[in-house]
Amino acid sequence: MKKTKIIATVGPATESEEQLIALYRAGVNIIRFNFSHANYEVARAIMGRIRKLNSEGKTNLSALLDTKGPEIRTGDLESKIQFEKGDTIKIYTDIRKFKDDGASLFCDYDSLVEDVSIGQAIEIDSGLFNVEVIEKTSDHILVLAKNSCLIGSRRHVNLPGVRLRLPGITDQDKKDVLFAIEEGYDFIAMSFVRNRSNVEELRSLLALHDASHIKIISKIENQEGVENLDEIIEASDGVMVARGDLGIEVPIEKLPVYQREIVRKSMIQGKFVIVATHLLETMIENPFPTRAEVSDIFNCVMQRADCTMLSGETTIGKYPIKAVEMMTAVINEAEADMIYDHKDFSDDGLCVRDIEKKQLIKNALTMSESLDVRAVLIFTKSGRLARFAAAFRPNSDVYAFTMKESSVRYMNALFGIRPMLLPNWSENLGGNLDSAIALLKEKNLLLSGDRIVAVNDIQKEWKEIPVMEIITIE
Ligand code: PEP
Repeated sequence: MKKTKIIATVGPATESEEQLIALYRAGVNIIRFNFSHANYEVARAIMGRIRKLNSEGKTNLSALLDTKGPEIRTGDLESKIQFEKGDTIKIYTDIRKFKDDGASLFCDYDSLVEDVSIGQAIEIDSGLFNVEVIEKTSDHILVLAKNSCLIGSRRHVNLPGVRLRLPGITDQDKKDVLFAIEEGYDFIAMSFVRNRSNVEELRSLLALHDASHIKIISKIENQEGVENLDEIIEASDGVMVARGDLGIEVPIEKLPVYQREIVRKSMIQGKFVIVATHLLETMIENPFPTRAEVSDIFNCVMQRADCTMLSGETTIGKYPIKAVEMMTAVINEAEADMIYDHKDFSDDGLCVRDIEKKQLIKNALTMSESLDVRAVLIFTKSGRLARFAAAFRPNSDVYAFTMKESSVRYMNALFGIRPMLLPNWSENLGGNLDSAIALLKEKNLLLSGDRIVAVNDIQKEWKEIPVMEIITIE
């Protein structure tokens, strides 16, 4: 069983019950809903299917809502405009002044004229149309087309390197977050996070609605996000290398450098990290990936990302299940080649007992390898101990038992963790170990004669004392 987790974006190609089961069997752990496009009715129906399949034991899928975020777009056009290289185009921010004359565009970022300077590059239509600012007036900017492009209505606009004056959470995002709470999502991926306070704003919103169990994933997708990376990681539960937008917002040759940095820094803080976008892009149309895509996935695993993510491949792709199978096959190959060195990570924000448990887990992982034991068992209410185990990048199978469904769903994002619900969880901690072993035997995951290492607590005079046990299964 692979350790790197897979996130698949759901769409018309995968929204049926059958396809959701097929995605799960092929190796998907988390279903992502992209709320740049989603509609509540469709999302509600798919969430209903996921909850039903999970409760029937046919899947163990978590759900992630990816917000639209504070986007900038062009306006509506009567018909598409064919711009040619060398054309000059007026861009207005006041809709009353904009004329749909074939040589002008509207942009919904109010501070555009103020915030750009002469020579600033602007990327329109997700990087397809590159223009440069050559003049500024009081009500519009004049740009020069650097290439030819057919432009339709409401195209994405990126202003690389510009510190945008946009809200952290838009009104639409707030509505979507409330929807996520109502529908029982497990993760919210926050688009265009620029600093710690953006994350804190979302955390307060979740707390206000009694939904602090929902984990926050900060999407790093512009220069400001990269510059404030350390504080963003610290404030977040996990981080996403959102390579689609990041590849437009920063010079493309910097993208692999930033990917490596984001993964490395997330690991240092013991937070989970996702690499997203274009991992198997050509499989949207083709049954077979390119050599470069296979190497890309291999490289993500070598860098030790917790999760890899699919977007168009599983929303509208012709081969969604094959794409996941391909990703699983490459992950398995890469993991067999990986060196597991259990690097330590920051103790910041951890209490003394957490730090003790963390070191106990590290030792359990090292010992499980040198003694060649079958599995490591840990017990965790919130999933925090599983986060420690994952951050050490375990080589052994790690089964993490909990009594909370929400913790199971969280742990689906963590490298190498196999989360399990312990139906008869008890505060008698020794009893939990017996139930966990019985459950693993029942599922044929443990056999008589196997050895395991368990990290648990024993109760002594009303105190919980962390212990590690080596047990031979009877
Ligand atoms: C990305 O930019 O890579 C990404 C995952 O975000 P979105 O799909 O919302 O653009």
